[in-house]
Amino acid sequence: MTIRRVAIIGLGLLGGSIGLAVKARGLSIVTTGWDRDPDVRARAAIRGLVAEVYETAEAAVAEADLVILCVPVGAMGEAAAAIAPGLKPDAIISDVGSSKAAVAAALAAALPGACIIPAHPVAGTEQSGPDAGFATLFAGRWCIVTPPEGCDPAPLEALSDFWTALGSKVEVMDAAHHDLVLAVTSHIPHLIAYTIVGTASDLEDVTQSEVIKYSAGGFRDFTRIAASDPVMWRDVFLTNKGAVLEMLGRFTEDLTAMQRAIRSSDGEALFDLFTRTRAIRRQVIEQGQDDERPDFGREHGA
Ligand code: NAP
Repeated sequence: MTIRRVAIIGLGLLGGSIGLAVKARGLSIVTTGWDRDPDVRARAAIRGLVAEVYETAEAAVAEADLVILCVPVGAMGEAAAAIAPGLKPDAIISDVGSSKAAVAAALAAALPGACIIPAHPVAGTEQSGPDAGFATLFAGRWCIVTPPEGCDPAPLEALSDFWTALGSKVEVMDAAHHDLVLAVTSHIPHLIAYTIVGTASDLEDVTQSEVIKYSAGGFRDFTRIAASDPVMWRDVFLTNKGAVLEMLGRFTEDLTAMQRAIRSSDGEALFDLFTRTRAIRRQVIEQGQDDERPDFGREHGA
């Protein structure tokens, strides 16, 4: 099964980056695209995010071997319904949504009988929109593919090969397991960042200007994550409720243990945890998942 034509629905950070990566890597694949927002469509055409931007979803997916839905997870069902009338019978339908079980269910309901293989490239930034995408977003990053039970191996292989051609490393996983893993590696960290930034902005005894002035103490790293797209993240928490609440329960217990250690001056407990977490950071760097330079390689002026 060869993918010669890919339709991208939703031309923001993820959709735009896929189109740009296909072009930059010189793949023999024609890209087409559609977004519900006419301003985004116009901007996508100017930036050349895909070879052809269409005025309707139906026209964009006609003749496509692979359709990738790159819209917020709460909009997947609506986007799938919009493409339904234009699909080739053997087209592969995939997505890039950050939660997988809920998206798989929404796509299956909107497109009964279609070949649906959800996926999640674990790559992104806090930016969104048609100007945010870039060709190297997926290089060296994981793409988790979550085929339904009994999925035909040929389209699964074709989709995996597509992501590999964009520079990704592909892992196949069950959707429910994906949701649990991502709850702890992505969703809870975002929730913590949103909460701490919210807490700091609500304080009465410390002024907003002090919070911003002294943010280099650690706070500013949370503000990057807390600047992520509100629609996208609202939808992630609403569609991955079970796994997020389960992991949040574990996190709350560990936080209470830390509270107890501080109150009872248990330096050993604090030291032990901080030593373990430092080793995790080393592993993240060793596996090429982050920049090894101190402070993320930020310039420190003289
Ligand atoms: P984005 O930059 O905001 O782009 C999404 C685009 O989809 C917007 O232009 C939006 O238009 C459009 N859209 C919304 N509903 C639509 C619909 N029903 N039909 C057609 N277009 C529609 O978002 P993104 O960061 O690329 O995220 C897209 C998906 O990727 C999400 O499911 C997210 O969970 C996943 N993801 C994101 C990241 C990340 O770091 N950002 C990483 C991995 C995966 P409007 O602005 O008019 O709503």
